[in-house]
Amino acid sequence: MRKPVIAGNWKMFKTIAEAVDFVEKIKPVAAKADHCEVIVAPPFTALAGAAGAAKGSKVAVSAQDIHWDKEGAHTGDVAPGMLVDAGCSHVIIGHSERRHDHGETDEQVNRKVKAALAAGLTPIVCVGETLAERESGRTADVLRSQFEGSLAGLTVSDFSRIIIAYEPVWAIGTGKTATPEIAAESHRILRDQARKQFGEKEAAAVRILYGGSVKPDNVSKLMAQEEIDGALVGGASLKVDSFSALVNYK
Ligand code: PEP
Repeated sequence: MRKPVIAGNWKMFKTIAEAVDFVEKIKPVAAKADHCEVIVAPPFTALAGAAGAAKGSKVAVSAQDIHWDKEGAHTGDVAPGMLVDAGCSHVIIGHSERRHDHGETDEQVNRKVKAALAAGLTPIVCVGETLAERESGRTADVLRSQFEGSLAGLTVSDFSRIIIAYEPVWAIGTGKTATPEIAAESHRILRDQARKQFGEKEAAAVRILYGGSVKPDNVSKLMAQEEIDGALVGGASLKVDSFSALVNYK
């Protein structure tokens, strides 16, 4: 009932031409992948090019960040309507690299989520604990509090439009993947929190992706977990062969 999602987060990689070329090559792969949704998240500069190439295909285009204002004096930021204008349907919000590099708080993530929803975008909201938090036994508290703060004030109908990504910070770009069991346990904590905040039906329906060093050789075991509804992938999403293998995890 929860359609899996394979999403590639390209971070600060790829020119416009490289992004367009990638989308052209992944389109036929996505077209055959009825079992999952396929999303790529290029940098801002390549969004319009990638979305143009993806038009009419099964490849959806996501931004990697958003500002909550409709417009204004915010140097370097990009407004929700601009992402829609560029052809985006999704936006990653609260990635740990934004939380850590730019000091983004749950409150800011919450404002961004609301702005994305208002613009008709699907937010992919990231949460995850650091190594120190895991080692001190605080994983569940951290996940609950990030979830609660990032999604505060959303209606049930708002919540039905979002995707969650569980991304343990210690597993991102480190080559250390959470075991399928560790990931599934965190997903259960998040789904329990969803139940408390939004009710049984919405909690059962929300898709929770796992992110953190997902590669072609570990994706199947992760996806075999009932609790894991897809993957948000950094490094292994940058090459067509490797991203194709992730899409074809089945
Ligand atoms: C990410 O950036 O969301 C991510 C999970 O990166 P990687 O797959 O490289 O660990």
